[in-house]
Amino acid sequence: MAQRIVIENCAIATVDADDTEYASGYMVVADNRIESLGAGKAPEGLEDVVRRIDATGHLVTPGLVNTHHHFYQWLTRGLATDHNLFNWLVALYPTWARIDEQMTYTAAQGSLATLARGGVTTALDHHYVFPKGSGDLSGAIIRAARETGIRFTLARGSMDRSEKDGGLPPDFAVETLEGALAATEATVDEHHDDSFDAMTQVAVAPCSPFSVSTELMQQGAELARRKGVRLHTHGSETVEEEQFCKELFGMGPTDYFESTGWLGEDVWMAHCVHMNDSDIAAFARTKTGVAHCPSSNARLAAGIARVPDMLAAGVPVGLGVDGTASNESGELHTELRNALLINRLGAHREAALNARQALRLGTYGGAQVLGRAREIGSLEPGKLADLVLWRLDTLAHASIADPVTALVFGAAAPVTASFVGGRQIAENGRLLHVDEDAIARSTREEARRLARIAAQG
Ligand SMILES: [Zn+2]
Repeated sequence: MAQRIVIENCAIATVDADDTEYASGYMVVADNRIESLGAGKAPEGLEDVVRRIDATGHLVTPGLVNTHHHFYQWLTRGLATDHNLFNWLVALYPTWARIDEQMTYTAAQGSLATLARGGVTTALDHHYVFPKGSGDLSGAIIRAARETGIRFTLARGSMDRSEKDGGLPPDFAVETLEGALAATEATVDEHHDDSFDAMTQVAVAPCSPFSVSTELMQQGAELARRKGVRLHTHGSETVEEEQFCKELFGMGPTDYFESTGWLGEDVWMAHCVHMNDSDIAAFARTKTGVAHCPSSNARLAAGIARVPDMLAAGVPVGLGVDGTASNESGELHTELRNALLINRLGAHREAALNARQALRLGTYGGAQVLGRAREIGSLEPGKLADLVLWRLDTLAHASIADPVTALVFGAAAPVTASFVGGRQIAENGRLLHVDEDAIARSTREEARRLARIAAQG
């Protein structure tokens, strides 16, 4: 028998295909799915109602979907703060190369807790640093996600182009081609779930053209397609990357991706800042997705991605926090605002993005690039009950009439409740299944331990 939760008296932004909204509406959740929603009060006579929430003063939206992150960087926030991407990578790789299983687990806890308390219901970690003998890092990250209660994709990364081959990472921080492929395949076999309500999925995710061999790009794509999982990497992040690709491969990043099998509807790429018209057309033609990371791009002075042009061309676009060594806040709800504001500094000025488009990037757009738009990303009957109650009747937002404008243009809104598959994971900005204060303490201890080990060289 279905257990029902009824949410009433709230504004609802469904982010469905028609952008349907209700100024005052209701939603009925039955077990892990949305059963019904609409204007006014919930239908009378519903059976097995275990909870009734009066959400007066709230906006209900789909849970936010994060499409790009590096959890391990939680332990190296606030370092190399005035660097561009390449100098920042060179400064931090020697420290990153010293991570172990306990550090990785703790960093994942910190990253996940911050995402979840801010309205993220589907998280992603692109993890690509696997130092020799460092333990089961993928297993540790997935364990942390399960404990938080969040829906999760592990993008199992890899690097095999170190300093001796013209790459940026130190030699001891990379895997061999064969080792990386075998470990990635084993991670897919052990953890990937392709069911409708999957809590854990795995993607194949070599780090970037400048830290990965052409063979690993090609064979990684073949592996992903053989296994039926998605492909993720970094692309076209900086001017320097474009020059690197031209010198090494004789072509720009998008052509290089195409030549290695890395354009397609099962691929999404982080950043895509330096894209010309034909690059955008190639992404649109192949339905390759983009993880837009506005704060990180600003932090590293990478530039402004052409999101309005991508959307106009039909490219799927989601939002990403990116690693917290280049976005110390680690919060996704602030990225709605930053995506809107930063894109208005680009060519389209005030017409670049509006509040509803920004909300769509952080919800449905994210679900699209993760290949989960059938299940999540909008509030519609039959979809999974991944949703957030944002409180908009306090000092921060009460004088703003339109709730979506308040959420996107206003200060970060308090999260009263957040549900993943009908299970509540956060209440009044606190997490229900993990101890936030204990996580804060252990992240400080592990960050100090990593700094100490790295200082020994
Ligand atoms: Zn990244």
